[in-house]
Amino acid sequence: MQSSQAPTLSASYFDGTNGRARPVTLQVEGDQLLVHGENFHLSVPLRKVQWPERTRYGLRVAHFTEGGSVQCAEAAAWDDWSSRSGRGDSLVVTMQQSWRWVMASALALVLLLVAIQQWGLPVAARAVVAVTPLSVDSKLGETSLAAIDEHLMRPSRLAAAEQARLREAFAKAVGAMPAGSVPSWQLVFRRSRIGPNAFALPGGTMVMTDELVELVGRDDKVITAVLAHELGHVRHRHGLRMLVQVTALGGLAAMVVGDFSTVLAGVPVLLGQASYSRDAEREADQESVRILKAAGISPAVMVTLFERIAAKKNDEKKDAGKAGQSGRASEDGKPGETLPDQDSWLGIAFASHPADVERVRFFMDAAAER
Ligand SMILES: [Zn+2]
Repeated sequence: MQSSQAPTLSASYFDGTNGRARPVTLQVEGDQLLVHGENFHLSVPLRKVQWPERTRYGLRVAHFTEGGSVQCAEAAAWDDWSSRSGRGDSLVVTMQQSWRWVMASALALVLLLVAIQQWGLPVAARAVVAVTPLSVDSKLGETSLAAIDEHLMRPSRLAAAEQARLREAFAKAVGAMPAGSVPSWQLVFRRSRIGPNAFALPGGTMVMTDELVELVGRDDKVITAVLAHELGHVRHRHGLRMLVQVTALGGLAAMVVGDFSTVLAGVPVLLGQASYSRDAEREADQESVRILKAAGISPAVMVTLFERIAAKKNDEKKDAGKAGQSGRASEDGKPGETLPDQDSWLGIAFASHPADVERVRFFMDAAAER
């Protein structure tokens, strides 16, 4: 007997002992699933029905815990009957099925991470760095320099006297700063694969490439300006702050995504790949101007440097274009000795981030002020 109001669905019944399908109609009445066939009636309590997962396509099969099952090849008809019978899907299932919901969740996650990185993490990272002993910076710096020396840098070809002259020029400039306002530092020179560049490691070791010294014609004022900028990164402990920020963000993403291995694997290359925030660069530029002014050097020297770096990059682009047109391979022919575009990958290095209009104007304005 079918009751009149409850929606029905045509399905097949299997009793679980033989493979024979019986045509039946299904109805939900109260807390019972009624299965009607020809000369056959079955009433199964709903709690003893294992309802099918609602996948998008395919056969719908409901198993009875005490044996037997019903199935329906028309998924849409089943779903329609199921929901009209008051068996709406749980909220989670509904959401999982909606690609819109999936997209929205993914977007929300990205926005959350961006927001934390933009506003929450920098603040948190500052706090973490403030309570971290300076010895941690030094240790990180040592480890990084060892790795850099092994993979990227060669010993400098600058004469020892020349190195000493540049070191003294910078020491003199820094010496004009109020006592205690300058972190401890050391300056090393290296021949590099990253072209004319300079960077500071956590702990105060600053690395300057021979190529940068050559690019500025060994001008100690310009070199002092670059080093003063790098010393700003050291003073504000930007290296450690960035590591804290990037690893914390990675950790958060890992918690959400459930994969920690990527975070751990990433730590050694972070210093190479990440770059300082614009705020950090601004702070370093301000420090540079402070030192230059204390030393009586015009901040305009920095603009000269920006121009030289830009001109060099332009030349390289032109050369690369010519080589491409004539189809020539690199002439020195030693693989491993040449790495095109080397200067762009070391994110924390001076020449790796572009000198935009804002930075140029900052140094021009500083030079114009008395
Ligand atoms: Zn910088």
